Amino acid sequence: MGRKRKLDTKKYKKLLQTQHQQLQQELKALADQTTGRDRLSKQVATEDFDESGGDAATDAVERSQNLAIIDTLRDMLENVNEALRKITEGTYGVCEICAKNIPKKRLEALPYATMCTDCRARMGR
Ligand SMILES: [Zn+2]
Repeated sequence: MGRKRKLDTKKYKKLLQTQHQQLQQELKALADQTTGRDRLSKQVATEDFDESGGDAATDAVERSQNLAIIDTLRDMLENVNEALRKITEGTYGVCEICAKNIPKKRLEALPYATMCTDCRARMGR
């Protein structure tokens, strides 16, 4: 199997750029929501001391969930950036672990994939 294959990187670049935009929009929306909640929970926080903090607790849970999603989105955004960099470098679509070509089907489903399915499975994710 030849190591170099012809990949339509333009197509993947477009996919990645679309994903990049979507991720940034989602991140912005979540960040706005979370900081908006911040202002709210500050008002509630003063009431926390007289044991009526039930709503504040729910808010805190939602807030930490939002923060977890933000983390995941940031990771994805990083992967997307990395993939875009690889397209520029000409190393896109090659598994980082075993240096085999990542199947096109996988790249279409997950344009920012940096590992082939086998290696991904071996990494336990
Ligand atoms: Zn691999």
